[in-house]
Amino acid sequence: MGDVKCPFCSGEMEIVEEHKHNRGIAATIILLGFLSFFTINVLLGVFLLIIGLFMAFAEREYWHCTACSSAIERLKK
Ligand SMILES: [Zn+2]
Repeated sequence: MGDVKCPFCSGEMEIVEEHKHNRGIAATIILLGFLSFFTINVLLGVFLLIIGLFMAFAEREYWHCTACSSAIERLKK
């Protein structure tokens, strides 16, 4: 790291981590999961819980140019 140059202006680039999803939405889905777990359907509840947890913890990384503010999605593997 540190030697990545911006393809647009050759400026310094830094890694920025960001949560992929809105935490409020993730929390709502987890809550719905709990509700369906006890009232509607256990499988549906587990399914919603998994989606909610995945959304709550999913992160994305991208390169951010400190000079011109352009952002590039970081390539993984
Ligand atoms: Zn730049």
